[in-house]
Amino acid sequence: MTGGTGDLAARRAAVLGPAYRLFYAEPVEIVRGEGVWLWDAQGRRYLDGYNNVASVGHANPTVVEAISRQAGVLNTHTRYLHPLVVEYAERLVATMPAGLDTVMFTCTGSEANDLALRLVTMATGRSGVIVTRTAYHGVTAAIAALSPSLGLGVGPHVRVVDPPVGGTTAEGERFARDVAEAADELAGAGHPVAALLVDSVLSSDGLVPDPVGFLEWAAREVRSAGGVFIADEVQAGFGRTGRMWGFERHGVEPDVVTLGKPMGNGHPLAGVVLRRELAEPMAARTRYFNTFGGNPVSCAAGLAVLDVVARDQLVEHSARCGRRLSEGVREVASRHDGGVEVRGVGLYVAVELASGEAASAVVDGMRERGVLIAATGPGGRVLKIRPPLVIDDSGVDLLVGALDESLAELGGLGVNAGS
Ligand code: PMP
Repeated sequence: MTGGTGDLAARRAAVLGPAYRLFYAEPVEIVRGEGVWLWDAQGRRYLDGYNNVASVGHANPTVVEAISRQAGVLNTHTRYLHPLVVEYAERLVATMPAGLDTVMFTCTGSEANDLALRLVTMATGRSGVIVTRTAYHGVTAAIAALSPSLGLGVGPHVRVVDPPVGGTTAEGERFARDVAEAADELAGAGHPVAALLVDSVLSSDGLVPDPVGFLEWAAREVRSAGGVFIADEVQAGFGRTGRMWGFERHGVEPDVVTLGKPMGNGHPLAGVVLRRELAEPMAARTRYFNTFGGNPVSCAAGLAVLDVVARDQLVEHSARCGRRLSEGVREVASRHDGGVEVRGVGLYVAVELASGEAASAVVDGMRERGVLIAATGPGGRVLKIRPPLVIDDSGVDLLVGALDESLAELGGLGVNAGS
């Protein structure tokens, strides 16, 4: 580690304390971004293969211009009338199934899930929640209790189900049956089920896109038990999957959708979209206000993101470029070890390796080759490849080439050794 970056890491540890983690044993100090590219403090350029926040590209000029223009005129909150807030909410619901007609703004995905939980708890009069085995839904106290990946266990009102394995129809059906059983158990434990909460791509479970339709089968079960289906689109939303929304692929219409990350392309904008009748019980009992949520500058950012996604046909691009990425990664993986499992949807590809150790060696190898990715999933053994949607064919090829070399370098660790 060179002097400046090393000093900064030490100062950071001293002042931010021990709960924060950095990527990489030798941290990367990023100072600038443009499109799919990032530059570190030493002037080295990296391909960003990880970032689904700056989804329409780092420092996207349309988004930057929209934010600066609005910041130069007015930024205030949602207790005054402002046309941008209304226009953005209208544009957002227009991208969703017809029944999802009401938008409530927050600043983070965690807050969106927290608000969704309050809304459905009040709407159903129930408290039980079903989540997936390695789910992550956020940092508030209520949502950390629904996020087993944090390693703190889950609350007594929560049941955890294993995601489908291997993408088979049988596994998708097993998942739906497990949801039904979990709902029964919750009822038996005095916490009747209020909601099934699932990330539409099961990102922190290591990316589980298949079998197509399994979320619809599971949603049916939770509804027949009296609960609702909340699609957490914080990861999947805004074109990532080659569809505008991840749930579309499964043919399911959620009762509630939570949004975040790419919504403002890095500007803190998030929210909940839901059916009006689910919003009413909370409104009858209390008010909703979030000081920063849905402010005019955030809404200008959100509108610019929707404009860029439409103008540059990024949903279609994500499907097409994602196929190239998936095919490239599959081809590379098949050459290195037939046992490596590759899962992909749109511009999100996961490579399951034998161990977290192997995955972190590949993440380091990619970094040395100028490509940033990360590892996730159970045991941290799943490579998470998730570039901004604006990546092009040459970026995909560069990424796949770096993966090829990094897997080759694994040597003794073996991609399929042991487990
Ligand atoms: N839901 C999912 C599926 C997420 O991946 C995340 C963030 N990783 C969140 C919710 C929480 O979002 P935030 O960090 O904006 O609070």
